[in-house]
Amino acid sequence: MLAVTASQGVISIVERDTPEGNGELIAVTSSGICGSDLHMIEAGLSGVVLGHEFGGHTSSGQLVAIRPTGECGTCQQCSAGHSQTCSMAGRSLHGMSRDGGLAEFVLVDQNQIFPMPAGVDPASVGLVEPLAVVIHGINRSNIEKGSRAVVIGAGSIGLLTAAVLIDRGVSVDIVTRHPHQSLAAEKLGAHPVSEPGSNYDVSFDAVCSQQSFDACVQATRPSGTLLEFGMFWSPVTLNNSLMMKEITVIPSIFYGHNHEHHDFVEAVDVLARLPFIIDAVITHRFALTDAAEAFRVAADRKSGAIKVHLFHM
Ligand SMILES: [Zn+2]
Ligand SMILES: [Zn+2]
Repeated sequence: MLAVTASQGVISIVERDTPEGNGELIAVTSSGICGSDLHMIEAGLSGVVLGHEFGGHTSSGQLVAIRPTGECGTCQQCSAGHSQTCSMAGRSLHGMSRDGGLAEFVLVDQNQIFPMPAGVDPASVGLVEPLAVVIHGINRSNIEKGSRAVVIGAGSIGLLTAAVLIDRGVSVDIVTRHPHQSLAAEKLGAHPVSEPGSNYDVSFDAVCSQQSFDACVQATRPSGTLLEFGMFWSPVTLNNSLMMKEITVIPSIFYGHNHEHHDFVEAVDVLARLPFIIDAVITHRFALTDAAEAFRVAADRKSGAIKVHLFHM
């Protein structure tokens, strides 16, 4: 089968044996490129088949989305439904620690399979994973209907955050840099702005840099909440504005399934219920054989790309 790997920052399309063993073999129909893939490739990730945002058909023909993180199932975190902080979550991540979905086929564990409702476009199921990422953060923020939120960063995570917040009755300003991002924000019902306003109940940092973190602190009201998505790829320092306003900073990584929320199930529901999100966010589709060009486009912020998907023709 065809698969996409990286070595010393260079993307290659390679021939691999179709995986065999315990689990379910998925014929991939949709696989997204994530900003974290670009960071990890730059940091030297090599050998493993790339891709953690994917889904496809099982051997029985059922369309499914795949949660790419595993869990030990027995530790204190797993028992509480917080498998995102199980030590196995990152160590079992498809596309980083195990072969991922940028391939014709991928072998996955049964408990990481989420059936899609009838009618969902097979070319879109790779969006369930980043939707689950933003739903986890929104669930952790405990934001209420009728609140005002600002999203800093209008890449795929920022725009998907805006879409889910609007679905929950929140008024959303989103800071955009490029015209195609503003257009996508408008399609999703958010207000694109070039600078954040002030006194938001909750700010969502979808960039995770010093600049975006400081902008969130400044834009959040006293006693408000700042939700931080993903990873700081460089360290960030805190300041007294955060202290004086008693802003609650909440980190958010992956997705969990505690008694209140099942982030991945909620993401499946959102994608099935709000298909306009697909058109607003997936800007480019490439064949697997054009993976090198797909990664180039995904890394170029001026290319008009929001989410780039690959599929096997
Ligand atoms: Zn991702
Ligand atoms: Zn565990």
